[in-house]
Amino acid sequence: MVLVTGGAGYIGSHTCISLIDAGYEIVVFDNFSNSSHEGIKRVEKIVGKKIALVEGDIRNRKDLQSVFDTYNIDSVVHFAGLKAVGESMQIPLQYYDNNVCGTVALCEVMQKNGCKKIVFSSSATVYGDPETVPIKEDFPLSATNPYGRNKLFIEKILRDVHRSDPTWKVIMLRYFNPAGAHISGTIGEDPDNIPNNLLPFIAQTAVGKREMLNIFGNDYDTPDGTGVRDYIHVVDLADGHVKALDKIDNFKEVMAINLGSGDGYSVFEIIHAFEKASGKQIPYNIVARRSGDIATCYADTAYAEDILGWSAKYNIDKMCEDVWRWQSKNPDGYN
Ligand code: NAD
Ligand code: UDP
Repeated sequence: MVLVTGGAGYIGSHTCISLIDAGYEIVVFDNFSNSSHEGIKRVEKIVGKKIALVEGDIRNRKDLQSVFDTYNIDSVVHFAGLKAVGESMQIPLQYYDNNVCGTVALCEVMQKNGCKKIVFSSSATVYGDPETVPIKEDFPLSATNPYGRNKLFIEKILRDVHRSDPTWKVIMLRYFNPAGAHISGTIGEDPDNIPNNLLPFIAQTAVGKREMLNIFGNDYDTPDGTGVRDYIHVVDLADGHVKALDKIDNFKEVMAINLGSGDGYSVFEIIHAFEKASGKQIPYNIVARRSGDIATCYADTAYAEDILGWSAKYNIDKMCEDVWRWQSKNPDGYN
């Protein structure tokens, strides 16, 4: 059975569906700090069966042990974590505690129970401000904020765990910019407060919840001056996790693998794609750059193709259509 930490969250919930579709049995472990039971109910509706669920915190070794006592866990897909860059600068200790200490607790309990396979949600943020693009997995790593350092530290911790006991199987998937939603329009990204990320903000603007989009800078060294990113459909990402689990036994080394589309789109290109998908106009303002933002970031996807046999299927138009279906059917998210 696969333990999915953070399985009630945005990427986790989509991955639960792909894992079940691929024939994996799963149990979700989540403290619902940034998700809702409603999301799990909707996943159950999509897959047509009940999902084993344990409510608990990854920092709590007793909570975790109870999962290993109840279920025969063979591997872990580890999404649980706090993910807001800005917030991580305001409350860094909570981020280190939740994300880094939480992962340490998880690995300890895994080791104690002889479960040594983990697929971890890392991020393209570990490349800092890359000197060139597309970004390859062996580029230098750095971080400019506590969230990024969480990811860097966890990657290093997982490498140390593997060094101490090479029977561990570790895959660190470095996501570029997850976007999109399940085709049903019943599950999707549901930010609690004002969205930090571009697509949820645009979607909320289109549905009338936000007045206008602030574009953070149009003076970058990019074709139209706005930031360029590699948006990857969440269903493609989910499929990447299935491929990673399918292949994890083949690897002797710790694997760090980019999950991106390989294409870069500017903020203006995303706005236009969303306007086309939704038929709504997105009012915007150009404002100052957001501190810590970089000009351009997109993945070299050759390694993922080679190693996992995975590549993105869905393009930016499909991402916008799916986000719009989710947002227009659920203007208030899961509430
Ligand atoms: P999310 O907030 O929707 O999901 C995370 C889930 O983990 C939530 O359900 C939350 O309740 C749960 N959680 C948090 N702390 C926990 C704890 N201590 N114990 C148990 N459960 C806990 O976020 P997401 O977008 O689905 O991201 C999943 C993972 O992917 C995170 O590790 C995130 O850092 C990483 N990631 C996300 C992005 C992105 O843009 N969404 C990009 C790169 C990497
Ligand atoms: N962005 C923006 N306005 C927003 C949110 C994001 O102009 O309200 C820009 C941001 O500067 C970046 C791109 O959109 O160039 C993607 O930002 P996001 O926060 O989604 O991802 P990240 O910066 O983490 O790659």
